[in-house]
Amino acid sequence: LLDLLLPPRCLNCRTAVGEPGALCPACWSGIRFIAAPICQDCGWPKNHLGEDCPACTRRPLRLRRARSAVLYDEGSRGLILRFKHGGRFDGAPAYAGWMARAAADLLPEVDLIVPVPLHRWRLMRRGYNQAALLARHLGRLSSKPVGVDLLRRTRATPSLGGHTARQRHRLLKGVFSVRPGTEIKGKRVLLVDDVLTSGATLEELARVLKRAGAGAVDAVTLARVPPPED
Ligand SMILES: [Zn+2]
Ligand SMILES: [Zn+2]
Repeated sequence: LLDLLLPPRCLNCRTAVGEPGALCPACWSGIRFIAAPICQDCGWPKNHLGEDCPACTRRPLRLRRARSAVLYDEGSRGLILRFKHGGRFDGAPAYAGWMARAAADLLPEVDLIVPVPLHRWRLMRRGYNQAALLARHLGRLSSKPVGVDLLRRTRATPSLGGHTARQRHRLLKGVFSVRPGTEIKGKRVLLVDDVLTSGATLEELARVLKRAGAGAVDAVTLARVPPPED
């Protein structure tokens, strides 16, 4: 109801804007969208065309391809944190639109869109799963089915930041499972999350999904943290 009475506000800084779900010009110009040329596999911008992608040579490749809409940096951090923790989910339709554009080459092949699950305690505390919100809107935009409850997180994991690859692997071991009775054999799954950091969570989910029979697993995220060496 408030949306009808009050003028629409910038998703980031709350100044008045012309339409709901938009950014003001200043905030818009601060967002760095990830655009071609990108690595066709991991989706990272290619600085050195023609060379092997340094990010892909190090990753386990259970996740076939990944795309992200924006860089996670000074310009986007506030927006993403408010969406993730601050209850500002009015931006979800706009963010899903950005993600649909970033994953435009993946979406036609997708059979099922699946959000990264939150542990139920965290879900209760926060009241919403931001990845599920993005997945629902992406499903609507692309006319693809969304399996919101397909994956389960059997325990909450600490932040994976500051851990080595081996430690992240250990922290994620046995955390995820596919809900029994779900038929995903041969299906091409698109995982959805808010931020891609190390990619360890998405890789682990791709492993779990493929073991359960998924044909291929790709991922799209709203934002992406630059790899440490960039
Ligand atoms: Zn603004
Ligand atoms: Zn790559």
